[in-house]
Amino acid sequence: MTDIIQLLPDHVANQIAAGEVVQRPASVVKELLENAIDANATLIKLIIKDAGKTLVQVIDNGKGMSTTDARMSFERHATSKIRTAEDLFQLHTKGFRGEALASIAAIAHVELKTKQEHDDVGTAIEMEGSKIVSQEVVATPKGTSVSVKNLFFNIPARRNFLKSVTVELRHVIDEFHRVALAHPQISFVFYNNGSETFNLPISNFRQRIVNIFGNKTNEKLVPVEEETEVLKIVGFVGKPEFAKKTRGEQYFFVNNRFIKSAYLNHAIVSAFDGLLKNGTHPSYFLNLYVNPQTIDINIHPTKTEVKFDDEHTLYALVRSAVKHSLGQFNIAPVLDFERDPNLDTPYGYKNTTTNAPKIEVDRSFNPFKNDTKSGKQTTVFRPTPNNWDSIYVGLESKGNDTKKDIRELHFESEEQTVSLFENENEAVQTNTTYQIHNKYIVSTIKSGMLVIDQHRAHQRILYEDFLKNMTIKEATSQQLLFPLQLHFSKQDIEIINQLKDDLEHTGFVFSNVKEETVAITGVPVGVPESEVSIILEQLISDVENEVPDSNFSATDLLAKSMAKSLAIKTGQSLQKDEQEHLVNKLFACKEPNVSPTNRNTFITMSVDELDKKFI
Ligand code: ADP
Ligand code: MG
Repeated sequence: MTDIIQLLPDHVANQIAAGEVVQRPASVVKELLENAIDANATLIKLIIKDAGKTLVQVIDNGKGMSTTDARMSFERHATSKIRTAEDLFQLHTKGFRGEALASIAAIAHVELKTKQEHDDVGTAIEMEGSKIVSQEVVATPKGTSVSVKNLFFNIPARRNFLKSVTVELRHVIDEFHRVALAHPQISFVFYNNGSETFNLPISNFRQRIVNIFGNKTNEKLVPVEEETEVLKIVGFVGKPEFAKKTRGEQYFFVNNRFIKSAYLNHAIVSAFDGLLKNGTHPSYFLNLYVNPQTIDINIHPTKTEVKFDDEHTLYALVRSAVKHSLGQFNIAPVLDFERDPNLDTPYGYKNTTTNAPKIEVDRSFNPFKNDTKSGKQTTVFRPTPNNWDSIYVGLESKGNDTKKDIRELHFESEEQTVSLFENENEAVQTNTTYQIHNKYIVSTIKSGMLVIDQHRAHQRILYEDFLKNMTIKEATSQQLLFPLQLHFSKQDIEIINQLKDDLEHTGFVFSNVKEETVAITGVPVGVPESEVSIILEQLISDVENEVPDSNFSATDLLAKSMAKSLAIKTGQSLQKDEQEHLVNKLFACKEPNVSPTNRNTFITMSVDELDKKFI
């Protein structure tokens, strides 16, 4: 027989990888700006033409590269930022994958000029579709300039996929805002088609916000500042009376990295409870600082998501911090911006640094438990134990390799009724599960123990439910007493329109989708009304982040996105019956082993393995 597998040539592999990293000009802007920041630049210039379709150039005064490094920088997985896998948990740089320059060079014409401080001359390199076209010695100032021209020149399909100049420019500006806001200690200048659009001097956070969004913003800002063991929050929320109809000015930064989180957004909106006019969205600019070990930013190169170890507690902290500030500053005089930018400590906090405010966190607080405003009980995905003994139908432990056993089991089979548990009574008696750290559910099984990640497991369960509903198109819907009016930007409405049919198959009923408003009269059974906005926002951000390719399935994305929004979070404490029902439902799934994003939902440990630990 002939062998048919071959390694892809580098330039092809790079082009494939590029699809992951570079979706549009704004992705190039993000990568180049982040490289400049990682190089400790204090002045960064961004120059674009035709919304970046023709040119994206970033010039920095950072540390530059040696000639060898300049060549190396275009290799895939070539990075100066991490060396070992452990470094991934202590990231202090923006980049770490070493993919960006290689990817960009695979799909554009790239010119690099770079010089280190103590070198007399620098290096210029030209790349075209992963190939080096020229390398020269040049006179150039300290730092690095990277020009990216004719993006997607060799992938016409991707080039045609780009949106109008207006839309692409909006993405570029959004990206610029995010990076510039996260780094007020760096000066940024932005030229669009030859004219200076932004010139942002080195400043503090408040000034940076005002420099970007205009002088009027200053009087609208309310400082937020709280510090606890797990989290430090510093930033501003907009006063309620200035809330906008669109969700434009909403920024979360986690360890100086912009992120989107529909869940934390909900925390803020709920802190504004009763203060906002219907259909308006508060502005916020919040920096969260957490121990890098408690977050996972490794999800996807272009995704603006972060996975927190304990999202539930973060929710409560963010909500209470914002609530506290709003209470304190509602009647406080407006801060005078011209006074002294360095004295940016809010009045209420002056001289109080020694006794930091205490935040009491109700760890069992569940924002979705019931709709307190209307006082009516809403249905939550609250499992009720049913045919508990049938969960483990077909689970038969063969030897010690339980993990393998579980994978191979057919849960539909009615014939075998061997329980995974030590004895079935134990399972039925409902005292076999334990929740640890409000994160994992532990249970004994015949060969040892089973540890389930509650968030991932619940995502799997919901994902399969939603997929089923969408395919059979028979989802039941619960009528809302009053139509829910939600406001979105035009672009967001476009996305909702795209997914409307699928959304309706999950149980949503739209009575009206207008220019910037959506009226909803029915929601899927079990979805609390208070959560609808989170689901739709999460969905919109997921669609925006999705790399469009042939495998793109709106249905699948919707199911994944809704599962993510609605799944029990880590940090949420679960009653015994809820724990059991989760286990029950998980093992009734078609693919119980992995979450919708292909991560393990559970692990097992045999008694043998445990024994070994005690040697
Ligand atoms: P990553 O940022 O993930 O390391 P990149 O492909 O973006 O990967 O960059 C590869 C390497 O090139 C970086 O690790 C860094 O050493 C170097 N580099 C890229 N851009 C710059 C820059 N503007 N200044 C100095 N070094 C740079
Ligand atoms: Mg990089």
